[in-house]
Amino acid sequence: MRKIQIDKTRKLMAAGIVSVLLLSLAGCNNPTIKKAKTSISDPSVSEEAAAETTEAAIQLPDTQTISLSETKDLGTELRADGQDYQVTSADETVVKVLEDGSVFGVAHGETTVTTTAGDTSYQTKVKVRKRGMVYPVFGMMKGEKLNIQFSSKAKPAEYTWTSTDERVAKVTKKGIIKAKGIGTAVVTGTSDAGTYRCEVTVTEKIDKAIYLTFDDGPNRYSTPKILDILKANDVKATFFELKPAKKDFDLTERVLAEGHTLAMHGYKHKYDEIYVSEEIYHENLDKLRDLFFNKFGVWCTLTRFPGGSSNTVSDYNPGIMTKLTQELDDWGYHYFDWNVSSGDAGGAKNAKEVFRNFKSELSTSHASVVLMHDFDKNDKTINALDRIIKYGKKHGYTFLPLTASTEEVHHAVNN
Ligand code: ZN
Repeated sequence: MRKIQIDKTRKLMAAGIVSVLLLSLAGCNNPTIKKAKTSISDPSVSEEAAAETTEAAIQLPDTQTISLSETKDLGTELRADGQDYQVTSADETVVKVLEDGSVFGVAHGETTVTTTAGDTSYQTKVKVRKRGMVYPVFGMMKGEKLNIQFSSKAKPAEYTWTSTDERVAKVTKKGIIKAKGIGTAVVTGTSDAGTYRCEVTVTEKIDKAIYLTFDDGPNRYSTPKILDILKANDVKATFFELKPAKKDFDLTERVLAEGHTLAMHGYKHKYDEIYVSEEIYHENLDKLRDLFFNKFGVWCTLTRFPGGSSNTVSDYNPGIMTKLTQELDDWGYHYFDWNVSSGDAGGAKNAKEVFRNFKSELSTSHASVVLMHDFDKNDKTINALDRIIKYGKKHGYTFLPLTASTEEVHHAVNN
């Protein structure tokens, strides 16, 4: 379909190689050598090579690095020159090509983008950084809100946000997306530092939703069993994990690979240590978030307080829960308590009682967030889980994982 003039491309490639070779010879210790790689007009390039390059009126970069969710127009020079061109990506799951020919970083990684203008074809290796805006593509239910979040130093308030369809998704100045109606919309943030994009799909609100949540994991006994049951029933859930032992990283990887939401309970769980001060609690979250990001590449924003926000185990530090619950949003986190307690960490004696607690606290008018545990040897929940899911499905409930836009369930604070 596309006709590519190989000769011209080869010439360009040759010129590139010559310049790289010359530069390498000229300055082995020159730290800027990489940057100079694409600069064909460098004075150290031989006359012959320079002559060939002037033939090619327009140069596209050999390599382009963009942040996650960032969009960049590689063809500005071609457009300015009045040329028609087509852009294709070798891997659209990493870099998508938009209608206007811009590239869009959908996932961390790299791929080759080919720009074809007339008989000339340019190849650019596009690398997508791990850091950027964390929601390139996002699904929401009507009525939900999403706080745009950066894993880099950028802040949503520094950008100007617009939506392609305000009937679907509205966006505030601070970068809060509100799901208004069914459909898809693109939310774009622009500043001098760049342009970021979030593709939002809004679906109907589900009132009879059950969010199964598992605290305190992972461990080799319970986590695989819970995951097996969820998988057999095709149900996604949420795991509020503690810092996994290195030998258990594969368990967290499995949680992610199977489509569950990874959320944070805290780096540590010790009540007498974590609630000593706001700074220490903040650190307890940041440390786990950074570990999850570095090891597994996911930027977590969902948290649950050890003991819940209503806990009184923190009353050795009066008022700490009042302060923490108010500050969490500013730190870039959301917290979830629960409105259905399985009792598996206390009250329930066996699987039967776990099931009974679940059944009696379920609601049909609002979403049910179910507290369960993924601690070691939790046979009570493991043995009740299949029955819980089958009961829920039979009675018309939908099992969903919590997301960054799920409406938060909070307890009344007691300290
Ligand atoms: Zn816990």
